[in-house]
Amino acid sequence: GHLDRALGKPAPAPVVKLPRPAILRGAKKHDVTICGAGFAGSVLARQFAEVSGKRVLLVDKRDHVAGNAYDCLDDAGILIHRYGPHIFHTNSDDVFNWLGRFTEWRPYEHRVLAQVGDRSVPMPINRTTLNALYGLNLRSDAEAETFLASQAEPVRDIRTSRDVVVNAIGTELYETFFQGYTRKQWGLDPSQLDKSVTARVPTRTNTDDRYFTDKHQAMPREGYTRMFERMLDHPGIERALGTDFHDLEPADKGGLVVYTGPIDAYFGHRFGTLPYRSLRFRHETLDQPQFQPVGVVNFPAEDVPHTRITEYKHLTGQSHARTSISYEYPSAEGDPYYPIPRPENQELFRRYDALAAAEPGVIFAGRLGSYRYYNMDQVVGQALAIHRRLGARQAVPDVM
Ligand code: FAD
Ligand code: UDP
Repeated sequence: GHLDRALGKPAPAPVVKLPRPAILRGAKKHDVTICGAGFAGSVLARQFAEVSGKRVLLVDKRDHVAGNAYDCLDDAGILIHRYGPHIFHTNSDDVFNWLGRFTEWRPYEHRVLAQVGDRSVPMPINRTTLNALYGLNLRSDAEAETFLASQAEPVRDIRTSRDVVVNAIGTELYETFFQGYTRKQWGLDPSQLDKSVTARVPTRTNTDDRYFTDKHQAMPREGYTRMFERMLDHPGIERALGTDFHDLEPADKGGLVVYTGPIDAYFGHRFGTLPYRSLRFRHETLDQPQFQPVGVVNFPAEDVPHTRITEYKHLTGQSHARTSISYEYPSAEGDPYYPIPRPENQELFRRYDALAAAEPGVIFAGRLGSYRYYNMDQVVGQALAIHRRLGARQAVPDVM
């Protein structure tokens, strides 16, 4: 970090004059300019407008708000998530209550099955999974624990996504459920990824077949986009959709900038590109009321190209004669969705983070701005904390 700063700023990039986005011609002066209308940018927009009384300009290059949580009706009138299944879960009362100002909640406990051969078994692995797979009759946590202990292969120094799973449940279960899925999802072997990635998925000795065990598990009753619409419905917030932040002129920006896009893009990729994983979605509507028994079915086999299939009606509770599903195909190309947690990427991120710390009047936030594999609730928590910290320091600059 110190070295980066000592090297000073590189020569400015050549100035390319782009047409000024029409939406900004004659726009009012704003106090705060926010790049990205996902959870990070939208929560901060609301807090700055409502709590700090600031005038906020919220820009997103997409033509909609809600970032990757965006949902909409498809041609059949079924509510789908354009960028893949988003299931809300949190242990934070603060986050749940804050969002609850903008939506009613529909209780929803997510369940996932993994397709292994011609069988569908609960994922995360639980006692039911073990009994089905091995033809066992494990009847208690203690019996399941003993079985898993007989499979586990202790790893002394647990660092990777392979270590953490093999240590807990052994090579056979690791290969069945984690190896192929992870290689497809990340384009890397689990041994090349931080342990934090597969550690997101626990192994259970009971028969709890829910994907999450958080205190709050619910979906916004009318969808995420509707929740964002209400969050952003404030006289202090002006939106510029279909607008790239990098096309703004200095005069368009307020004294404070919040940037929630990819951190390396902000700095013109000057140290090289920070890797993000993308996905391609194949959305389909079928002439049948139901396709699969649960919201998501995972496909850990490496010779199946997709990682999972989502059937949205399970998530949304919508009644409809037809049903819409989507297949996920991981990809290196496309919109950045996932930071890729591994040491060399963290090293590169730290160099950008040092630049970010030295960038006056700019705050970096969200999954892409922080290069952290955050869930939605963590992004909301981070945004609320950022605003609280600035408020405490009264550091929100006035209009330039
Ligand atoms: P984003 O939602 O990515 O928003 C960033 C916005 O910035 C985007 O809209 C982008 O267009 C905009 N932007 C970027 N660069 C520019 C620019 N130069 N100019 C203008 N605009 C720009 N979390 C959960 O809690 N539960 C789940 O079940 C879950 N499932 C997920 C499934 C998938 C497939 C994915 C990809 C993520 C999932 N997440 C889930 C994570 C969740 O999507 C994120 O935590 C959250 O949406 C991140 O919010 P954000 O505001 O940081 O980023
Ligand atoms: N994972 C796996 N098999 C599964 C489910 C998950 O190997 O059936 C691994 C995989 O590496 C995945 C990670 O665990 O990327 C985290 O899973 P999660 O369901 O949290 O992924 P997300 O919903 O964030 O894509």
